[in-house]
Amino acid sequence: MTSSRYDLVIVGGGIVGACSAYMTAISHPGWRILVLDRQLIGDGNATAYSAALAPHFGRSPDQLEMSARSLQLYREWHQRLNLPLRDIDVVWITSPESAGRIPDMLGGEILPADELLAAHPYVVLPPNWTAFRTRALQSPDPSQLTARLLHWTRKRAGLEVWDGVQAVDLHDEGELCQLSLADGRRLSASKVIVATGPWGLSGPGQEAVRAAGIRRKKIVALHVQAPPPRDAPVFVFFDDEAFLLPWADSSMWLLSITSTEWDCDVDASKLFISSSERAHGRAILAGFAPSLRDACVAGRVFSDTYSPTGVPCISGLRGRWATANGGSGAGFRLAPEIARAALNWITS
Ligand SMILES: Cc1cc2nc3c(=O)[nH]c(=O)nc-3n(C[C@H](O)[C@H](O)[C@H](O)COP(=O)(O)OP(=O)(O)OC[C@H]3O[C@@H](n4cnc5c(N)ncnc54)[C@H](O)[C@@H]3O)c2cc1C
Repeated sequence: MTSSRYDLVIVGGGIVGACSAYMTAISHPGWRILVLDRQLIGDGNATAYSAALAPHFGRSPDQLEMSARSLQLYREWHQRLNLPLRDIDVVWITSPESAGRIPDMLGGEILPADELLAAHPYVVLPPNWTAFRTRALQSPDPSQLTARLLHWTRKRAGLEVWDGVQAVDLHDEGELCQLSLADGRRLSASKVIVATGPWGLSGPGQEAVRAAGIRRKKIVALHVQAPPPRDAPVFVFFDDEAFLLPWADSSMWLLSITSTEWDCDVDASKLFISSSERAHGRAILAGFAPSLRDACVAGRVFSDTYSPTGVPCISGLRGRWATANGGSGAGFRLAPEIARAALNWITS
C-alpha cells in the first residue's frame, strides 16, 4: 500500500512539471517525489501542441537572461539524456524600424539579401529590410522530451507518476501541504509545485495565480501543407511576432502567429482557428513567402498563461508551495528556468 506522504508533489506533467521533477531529483536526491496529471502525461497539454522553438531571445532583459540560462540547461541535459532536441538555423526578418533594436540581443550576423534569396528563393525580403542569422534549439517531439526527463527521474530517483489524477484544492495544515484530489483522496506533502499551465487559473493555487495578474490567451499555429526543402531554417517575421518552422517530419511548415484572443476557454475542444486568424497568417505568407500562402489550410490551437511582463511568474507560500505560470507563449524555451525558480521558491 502506497503511503500518501511526500517530500514534494508536482501537480502537472507538462514540460514545466517534468523539468521541476528532474531538477529536484538532482539537487535533492533523497526526496520522495510524486508527479500527478489529470490526463495521460504528454496528452492534450500546451507542451504537446507546442512548436517547441527555443532561440536565444527575449522581449525584455529578464526574459533574455532566463532564455540564455534555460538553453544552457537544455544543452547540458541533452548531453546526458540524448533528448529529442535539434539545432536549427534561424533567419530573423526585420523592418528598418526594428532592425536597429535586435542584433545585439540576438548575437547573430547579418545575412546579405542576395545570399538569403539564393539559398531560399521562396522567401521575399522587402526593400530596406534586414535578415539576421542565428541558431536555436527545437524539439521535434516535446511530449517525448517530457517523457524522457520523467523516465530518467523515475529510474534514478524513484519518482512516482500518477496519470489521470486531478488535484482540486491545496491548503496548508501545520507543517504540511494538503492536496485534495477529485476522487476524494488526500495527499500530504512537505512541498508542492503547481505547474498546471493553462489550467492554472482554475485549479489549486488559483488565487495566487490570479493575484499575480496572470491571464490566459489563445495560441495559434497554422499548418502550411507544403514540404519544406531539406535543411530549411526557421524564418522569424519579427515585426509580426510570427515564425515559419519546417516541421520535423518534413511534410509541412508550422506558421506560428500571435492571437489576440485573451481569457479564452481552457478546454481545447472549444477553441478553433478563426477566419481572421487564418487571414492574418495568409497575409504574412503573402508578404514573405507568397508561394506558400494557399497551402495554409489547417492548424493547431491551444492556450497558455501570460504574465503582465511576459516573464514567467512564481507565486505561493515561500518555503512551502509555488505556482509556476506565465510561460507567455515561450514556456517551452523558458521551462528549465521556470522550474529552477519554483524550486528556489519552495526551498528558500
Ligand atoms: C501551438 C503552440 C505553439 C507554441 N510554440 C512555442 C514555441 O515555439 N516555443 C516556446 O517556448 N513555447 C511555445 N509554446 C508555449 C509552450 O508550449 C507552453 O508555454 C508550455 O508548454 C507550457 O508548459 P506547462 O508545463 O506550463 O503546461 P502544460 O504543458 O499545459 O502542462 C500542464 C499539465 O498540468 C495538467 N493539469 C492541469 N490541471 C491539473 C490538475 N488540477 N491536477 C492535475 N494535473 C493538472 C495538465 O493535464 C497538463 O498536462 C507554444 C504553445 C502552443 C499551444
